[in-house]
Amino acid sequence: MLRRFFEYYRPYRTLFIIDFTCAILAALLELAFPLAVNRVVDDLLPSGNWKWILFACLALLGIYAVSAGLNYVVTYWGHKLGINIESDMRKKLFDRVQKQSFRFFDNNKTGHLVSRMTNDLMDIGEIAHHGPEDLFIALMTLGGAFGIMLSINWKLAVLTFIIVPLMIYLSLYFSRKMNAAFHRMFSDIADYNARIENNVSGIRVVQAFSNEAHEMERFAENNGRFRKTKLIAYRIMAWNSSISFILMKLVSLFVLVCGTWFVIEGQMSYGEFIAFVMLSNVFLAPIKQINSVIETYPKGIAGFRRYLDLLESESDVEDLSGAKTVKHLNGDIQFEGVTFGYENKDKVLRGVDLSIHAGETVALVGPSGAGKTTLCSLLPRFYDVEEGRITIDGMDIREMKLDSLRSMIGIVQQDVFLFDGTIRENIAYGKLDASKNEIWDAARRAQIEDLVRSYPEGLDTMIGERGVKLSGGQKQRLSIARMFLKNPPVLILDEATSALDTETEAAIQQALTELSQGRTTLVIAHRLATIKNADRIIVVADQGIAEQGKHEELMAVKGAYSRLHQAQYGT
Ligand code: ADP
Ligand code: MG
Repeated sequence: MLRRFFEYYRPYRTLFIIDFTCAILAALLELAFPLAVNRVVDDLLPSGNWKWILFACLALLGIYAVSAGLNYVVTYWGHKLGINIESDMRKKLFDRVQKQSFRFFDNNKTGHLVSRMTNDLMDIGEIAHHGPEDLFIALMTLGGAFGIMLSINWKLAVLTFIIVPLMIYLSLYFSRKMNAAFHRMFSDIADYNARIENNVSGIRVVQAFSNEAHEMERFAENNGRFRKTKLIAYRIMAWNSSISFILMKLVSLFVLVCGTWFVIEGQMSYGEFIAFVMLSNVFLAPIKQINSVIETYPKGIAGFRRYLDLLESESDVEDLSGAKTVKHLNGDIQFEGVTFGYENKDKVLRGVDLSIHAGETVALVGPSGAGKTTLCSLLPRFYDVEEGRITIDGMDIREMKLDSLRSMIGIVQQDVFLFDGTIRENIAYGKLDASKNEIWDAARRAQIEDLVRSYPEGLDTMIGERGVKLSGGQKQRLSIARMFLKNPPVLILDEATSALDTETEAAIQQALTELSQGRTTLVIAHRLATIKNADRIIVVADQGIAEQGKHEELMAVKGAYSRLHQAQYGT
């Protein structure tokens, strides 16, 4: 685990070495300073030579200046190291998540993934910087300070160190309490963040139901809980800082009293006495640091383990070794004994055989939940079949490279997802390097050109988050324009017109008809009237295909199709 962690340091070896060296030098200087004062007091003061004393003071100032410089390096470059590691990890994680399968996103919450990529990694970055360095420096300072104190006056050093276990105990006690409090606080933050996110993205529903008061109440509850936890955390912090303060002063007083006695007894010089007092202050900070490293270490490791879990989670849909890039497909589709189901559920499809010829338009109909969308999502390998296989032009789709397979299949769905941005960006999502002419051409064929021209900013009009500034039909036409640019040989229209009123549906139907020209097209339709003209109608029901044929043939059979028709149109 640790080795894997330190791998992230590798690109920044130089940075790490510089940072570490400066931190060690800074710690050494801190130890050297009391010794220098010791010499000034014992050797120079008695001589009464003002010139020398002034010179010595300047030298001490020099030490401080160097310390300040080292501190700058340690603070800035050290954090740079942490920030670099953090951003490397975040990039890796994002790239990994981009390639995850649909199943992965079915099972992971959005908010969860976001917090893994933001807060979690920030913590790890902090630990990457502070962990190893702080521990080493703290141990060194502690050992060094104790060593010097021993060499100055071992009796006083031992007496002073008797108090150390008490300090360690108190420090551990408080940091444990504080960690628990901060942990609760962070989970409260995650809660209210989730609530805010959910509320803002659903605000239209909230207002439509006039449930603002209800939402405010629920938020007030979250907010109040957070306020309480945060107050508790700060109360612990206040206790901690007060008690540490008293303890530190007690140590100083103790050293002062005992030291004075040693001086009076002639066992210690004035310079040694001052150096001792200074050193007794130096060793308190490392104790705290060691504690904080001990406390944060398990948290950091746990975070890093979660990070690795996510980073190394296999996608259940991936390129097989030796997968080929396909550059062209006619669109001859074959389902051979395909069985598929989602987790903890009966199979949605069982032993499905189906063949669709290149250029054919087939309609999939059937009751809601029968598995029409599922059947179609197997084609671009959003999910892999459990048994059987699917071929296009005779080639198993698992032998094709995923991105080339998916570039051959276009899907237009009922709820269109548009990205926050301009009309241009959203259309060009179908072909990132599309020229302006191509974009206008796609807009024209998708029957959206007039609308775009009616905006003063044309293609550069912002459409709002998820396209809220457009109507349902406009969003749908924009997604169709995107498909004209993508120009795939296989097209899936999944209830593309179901949510639209009949008037816009006619316009979109026209665009869709043009879009499906010369492509193998699978149309899933709820309203049977829209698919009467399909080359073939396939009824999906009971884990497979119940019947197939032309409209008239199926009506004549008086089976599942005619029952669906009866339910919709009464005949
Ligand atoms: P249709 O498109 O015919 O209405 P679907 O293919 O969407 O039906 O769904 C078929 C069945 O699979 C339904 O019972 C549905 O609840 C289930 N289902 C669909 N998507 C998922 C999913 N991502 N995870 C689990 N179950 C799902
Ligand atoms: Mg569906």
